[in-house]
Amino acid sequence: MTGDGWVELEEPELAEEPTGPVPVVAVVGRPNVGKSTLVNRLIGRRQAVVEDTPGVTRDRVPYDAQWTGRQFTVVDTGGWEPDAKDRAAAIAAQAEIAISTADVVIFVVDTTVGATDVDEAAVRMLRRSAKPVLLVANKVDNAALEIEATSLWSLGLGEPFPVSALHGRGAGDLLDKILELLPEPPLINENPGPRGPRRVALVGRPNVGKSSLLNRLAREDRAVVDSVAGTTVDPVDSLVEIGGEVWQLVDTAGLRKRVGRASGTEYYASLRTAGAVEAAEVAVVLLDASETISEQDQRILSMVTEAGRAMVIAFNKWDLVDGERRYYLDKEIDRELRRIPWAIRLNLSARTGRAVDKLAPALRKALASWETRIPTGQLNQWLTALVQATPHPVRGGRAPRVLFATQASTCPPKFILFTTGPLDAGYQRFVERKLREEFGFEGSPIEVSVKARK
Ligand code: GDP
Ligand code: GDP
Repeated sequence: MTGDGWVELEEPELAEEPTGPVPVVAVVGRPNVGKSTLVNRLIGRRQAVVEDTPGVTRDRVPYDAQWTGRQFTVVDTGGWEPDAKDRAAAIAAQAEIAISTADVVIFVVDTTVGATDVDEAAVRMLRRSAKPVLLVANKVDNAALEIEATSLWSLGLGEPFPVSALHGRGAGDLLDKILELLPEPPLINENPGPRGPRRVALVGRPNVGKSSLLNRLAREDRAVVDSVAGTTVDPVDSLVEIGGEVWQLVDTAGLRKRVGRASGTEYYASLRTAGAVEAAEVAVVLLDASETISEQDQRILSMVTEAGRAMVIAFNKWDLVDGERRYYLDKEIDRELRRIPWAIRLNLSARTGRAVDKLAPALRKALASWETRIPTGQLNQWLTALVQATPHPVRGGRAPRVLFATQASTCPPKFILFTTGPLDAGYQRFVERKLREEFGFEGSPIEVSVKARK
């Protein structure tokens, strides 16, 4: 920043992957006070797309923003209806939506005009909320105008923040202030530091062929590694090179040593499986293709899904599958794996080595899906088209609207839909299914939740 408080904002560096929900900042205010100019300034975009016509209707659009390594979403609440009869009511309604969805509200006033009746109506709305509100005195293009800004104290929202959205004056300080008000990102990082080998759980009921597969993998690549530089590996884990890459197979010590029979009761086996799944990023669930998919298989599949891990289903003992078995297996798959059509499936044989080389690519694909982040702009472009083409069905004369969406986290991908009311479970599933159709996520569970404005 130079002496006169002028800042030229640089294109932001790509921030670290956020580990928690990305906080939302809503920008509200009368038409023409400079909201979209400010939003463009906050997201670091130089070519501001600003409509010069007052009251031009814009959609409520979220944008990704980053400042000093922290990420947040800025929502431009430009959805002003130019023909609204009662302007104060319209802006109050707009502010209401913003309040309900945001972590921080930025209320923009045009300093060259001063506080108007409409501004005061909006303020009454804002003050009733528990959300932090930042009063921005915009169009303070020079130091002389700062005096004008002080008159906005009268709005009762605390100290006005003088900025010039157009020229960038005061914008850096404003961003610092916004970050102060945002909720702290969670301290626990699920995947901290430089990444060691990817963690894989090899699970399945007794006798599906886990030890055989592990032995096959170790033999094929002649590489059960003892250590990888810079990483500490639990002694019960195995490091195995598969497909030219070292993987950490969690809790496989028992499998490596074992000479045949399963040890321990089913209860302990299942505890152990749960522990391995928890510790892993991706699970390979082995099923015995020559036998009917059992309840125990189902429990293990649910365990992986509920833990939110990426998943590859390996139908082992494929050498035993003949035409007739194949016919019945296909039917079982349709019936039993209906809820997890996204899991990657492989038909392999630990005995013959069939398709064992497909395991590493499948794991990589599942992990890539698990870590996918859809940029907010892309997500909402898709969503807007979707809800326009297929709006929520009308219930009792009303239909909740989906306002926008953010991806709250990765590993697995979780999405939040911001809506004007609760959605039908069916409609929520519809959005989730379409989300998969559009973006894939093969091999990874995803989660869609709804935040309805109250
Ligand atoms: P919105 O309707 O609140 O989104 O307002 P816009 O961002 O479309 O801006 C309305 C008008 O005010 C445009 O002509 C902008 O160029 C202008 N404007 C925005 N910010 C500033 C500013 O800081 N200083 C000056 N002088 N003009 C601004
Ligand atoms: P685990 O209990 O899951 O570790 O299963 P094991 O690896 O001990 O295998 C159980 C039995 O299935 C053993 O008799 C293996 O030889 C046999 N087996 C494992 N994989 C295959 C396979 O791909 N084809 C056939 N035909 N048998 C297999």
